[in-house]
Amino acid sequence: MASDEQSASTTSDVSTTETETEPESALETARRQLARAGSQLEIDDAIRERLAHPAKVHEVTIPLERDDGSVEVFTGYRAQHDSVRGPYKGGLRFHPEVSRDECVGLSMWMTWKCAVMDLPFGGAKGGIVVNPKSLSSAEKERLTRRFTQEIRDAIGPNRDIPAPDMGTDPATMAWIMDAYSMQEGETIPGVVTGKPPAVGGSYGREEAPGRSVAIVTRETCEYLERPLSETTVAVQGFGSVGASAARLLEEWGATIVAVSDVNGAVYDPDGLNVASIPSHDEEPEAVTRNADDVLDNDALLELDVDVLIPAAVGNAITADNADKIQADLVVEGANGPTTFAADSILAEQGVTVIPDILANAGGVTVSYFEWLQDINRRSWSLERVNDELETEMVRAWNAVRSEVDDRGVRWRDAAYVVALSRIAAAHDARGLWP
Ligand code: GLU
Repeated sequence: MASDEQSASTTSDVSTTETETEPESALETARRQLARAGSQLEIDDAIRERLAHPAKVHEVTIPLERDDGSVEVFTGYRAQHDSVRGPYKGGLRFHPEVSRDECVGLSMWMTWKCAVMDLPFGGAKGGIVVNPKSLSSAEKERLTRRFTQEIRDAIGPNRDIPAPDMGTDPATMAWIMDAYSMQEGETIPGVVTGKPPAVGGSYGREEAPGRSVAIVTRETCEYLERPLSETTVAVQGFGSVGASAARLLEEWGATIVAVSDVNGAVYDPDGLNVASIPSHDEEPEAVTRNADDVLDNDALLELDVDVLIPAAVGNAITADNADKIQADLVVEGANGPTTFAADSILAEQGVTVIPDILANAGGVTVSYFEWLQDINRRSWSLERVNDELETEMVRAWNAVRSEVDDRGVRWRDAAYVVALSRIAAAHDARGLWP
């Protein structure tokens, strides 16, 4: 990993051409997007340069005693990108492809995501290089607790607040909260969000990223004068984001024609009954288990639908398949599903892309509500969480939409304009010290 060279590079070194070799890392995509958006805004070059780099990256070694008594050593990261607007905030990923660069790229997106939503947080991301499916629950718990201990000085309710991401869930967050609290000698629920409600978690947090995807899809369809009742939708990935988004959109009148899991997709041009399909969290890989006819995941992306929601992994839409996308609207449920080159190809084809930093920002927004509930020691009803999320999402969507209308730019660029203006104003006001 050429991390030293890469971290020493500058935004101006980052190519923003459309022909760059793919696949690209999350860090490359994030830096190219920043360079592109920065060039459209009058932001001080020094601030732009600072934002191309993480403030800190913690790398730790985590020894784990396996159930058979052997010891295995894992590597963990916590990348802290920018905290000018508040404590670092972002998820923890347990996945074999976690790397330093991936964490840095994803931490940059968290900074922009929190700023688009106007939350008083900066951006962070972390994870452990591990296949969580290879661990028993007890092993996962020991690994999580030891990781928490290794990064304990770096996190805290006013410093850096982790949350779930790929391969982690509310149980993982409860172990982090417990390990941290035990060492501090007091119960500190606000150190982490996405916990079970029994230990200070917020109602509606698990469903929140999917709910925000559904809300921005609904708002954008209305803006494009397309009634939801006449809209067909394909959803790649039926984990918590994809399943919640699909179920809500179905409830609101859209026709969900395809959904997928890692093994492939089910497709019915007349509409599926998604409410009856278990999500990955409810029953892993249930989408394809009982299906007679299974399409491959690439075919799902290329279906002739009105809306495509990639909600599985990063780099799903690349220069290789972007020209085959037939949807008019792509709403990014996953983080980084569209590469930098693919973005331009989609724009040339007239496809509207609602970026991840707006579309799935319901997750971190309800994380913010959870943090407030933890600080105040008072929980909110599910109805209040969903009402406030609706208000915040529509407000953020409108802020971005107004930049789209005023500047005539793509939605991703408009979201960056909203986010970067707020972040740059905060850096400007605070100044550089010493
Ligand atoms: N991992 C989620 C994301 O990518 C949530 C982060 C959070 O709630 O802090 O937005």
